[in-house]
Amino acid sequence: MPPPVFRFAPSPNGYLHIGHAYSALLNFDLARQRGGRLLLRIEDIDGARCRPEFEAAIYQDLAWLGISWEMPVRRQSLHFARYREAVDRLAGMGLIYPSFESRAEIARLVAERETGVPWPRDPDGAPLYPGAAKSLLPEQRERLIAEGLPYALRLDMAAALTHAQTLEWAEQGEGPGGETGVVAAHPQAWGDVILARKETPTSYHLSVVIDDALQGVTDVVRGRDLFWSTSVHRLLQHLLGLPQPVYRHHRLIEDAAGHKLSKSTQATALRELRGQGATPADIRRLVDLPNDLTTDLTKP
Ligand code: GLU
Repeated sequence: MPPPVFRFAPSPNGYLHIGHAYSALLNFDLARQRGGRLLLRIEDIDGARCRPEFEAAIYQDLAWLGISWEMPVRRQSLHFARYREAVDRLAGMGLIYPSFESRAEIARLVAERETGVPWPRDPDGAPLYPGAAKSLLPEQRERLIAEGLPYALRLDMAAALTHAQTLEWAEQGEGPGGETGVVAAHPQAWGDVILARKETPTSYHLSVVIDDALQGVTDVVRGRDLFWSTSVHRLLQHLLGLPQPVYRHHRLIEDAAGHKLSKSTQATALRELRGQGATPADIRRLVDLPNDLTTDLTKP
């Protein structure tokens, strides 16, 4: 059996906090316990929010925690051609269409349609795409693109689902409602998700499944906030003929008041804690991870 392959995949759009430390350390510990490999991937497709100093801080913070990873590090911004290829392939299957509404227009369309009954939202709480761009004629699309309008390339979910039977995944951790074991995917809950934009030829969902496959990742260990994203990931893996890893969604580390940690909160940033004299062992204690490798880490 080849060794299992784990990965930690942060976005350099802020400083890592103790929630990231937990995720990275858990991947590192599981990889060592199971004789596996650990990869680091920099998810920097969002050129407006990602910054080199945050990327440099990621390397520093992880090394300080005692984590080591394989080189080279994959940086998503260097692989746009690869992602574009996948979008083209899905477009060739007739599963992609461009939509031209701005965020404000989408909000207005949702408000218009919300007459008494709330408009459906995706698992992250964002309204499903309310527009009618799917029914634009090819010449209308071409004209709007030629005019230079910004656009998003969306997955035609209804059409995509005709290619997929029941999709499921193996969950070794736990979802927000305690889901574990074989979990049924519900990609339709996301509506016509955006897979690429005019300025960025990819999206989180698309690049994550392509990279996990390209890098031979066998075990995706990440926070529970991404649990239902796995539905979209399974659908894309199916459409693109990619292998499926097993998933372990882990608990989220909260602040003292029980709120989700955010990259904009300084209080739990690793570099801040380090500056105050915290040691890597203190961070492990804070996130309730043992200092040795003999403990069973496989409980959610
Ligand atoms: N880049 C994502 C994040 O920072 C994580 C992606 C993943 O683990 O699938 O939240």
